Amino acid sequence: MAKIIGIVSGKGGVGKTTTALNLGLALQELGEQVIVVDGDIKNPNVGLYLGLYKFKNTIQNVMRGADIKDAQYLHASGIRIIPASLSIDEAGVGFSRLKEVFNEMEGYVLIDFAPGLGRDVLSLLEICDQAIVVTNPNIPSITSTMRFISIIKEMNKEVLGVIINRSGKAYEIKREDIEIICDAPIIGEIPEDENVRKSAMMKTPVLSYKPYSKAAIKFKEVAARLLDINYEPPSFSSIRNIFSYFSKAEATVI
Ligand code: ADP
Ligand code: MG
Repeated sequence: MAKIIGIVSGKGGVGKTTTALNLGLALQELGEQVIVVDGDIKNPNVGLYLGLYKFKNTIQNVMRGADIKDAQYLHASGIRIIPASLSIDEAGVGFSRLKEVFNEMEGYVLIDFAPGLGRDVLSLLEICDQAIVVTNPNIPSITSTMRFISIIKEMNKEVLGVIINRSGKAYEIKREDIEIICDAPIIGEIPEDENVRKSAMMKTPVLSYKPYSKAAIKFKEVAARLLDINYEPPSFSSIRNIFSYFSKAEATVI
């Protein structure tokens, strides 16, 4: 039975889609079977971040009864996704069928959520076993994270932890304080890293674009932590990045 994990946040634009794709790839590199599902059906980004736009089947088709095998796409980076349809009239078909469909899968099902605590978010949370909450280290983001976490707990879902994304100099709240305020463990701290934005332009996760960048290494650390594996960050990262750049593949659907 798969582990169904929601990648959620109180506020938008904090890095959920980035986290879902890169954590997914990192878990996969550690030998896990992973699929990233676009659960942000009103504003789907998973396919777009990978340069994939047209799909015969999407998560909406699966919700209506299509075979999940027909809605899976493999990106050149190695990540498997179930995209959402970009067409607006396909939004909001109901998530209830997904639980049994995902349960039949193996490994990790990472669901990239829409932000906030709207009706769609709450009903999609119902089908998750666990949640990872992504936040930025600023007061508005932390406040909504705190509220979100208490709701998740009220729903009897396990909060695996908080990922502080885009951390750097402009820290408004210290890591230790975030942990206390949110009442959940901090399972990762991803730095602000321009390679993340560049990787989006290259239509591939930063783990495949610059596997030894600061952000990529931190995503790998989070994956290792989730699997309870000891992870040694590599040395000579910048030299390794240059070599990996030349061996990069194009993004295509397979
Ligand atoms: P969300 O899914 O929560 O809306 P995204 O993953 O789409 O957030 O990220 C929002 C924007 O922030 C994107 O342009 C992304 O490239 C950028 N971004 C995310 N994480 C980082 C990071 N660690 N460093 C730099 N830019 C980042
Ligand atoms: Mg997103």
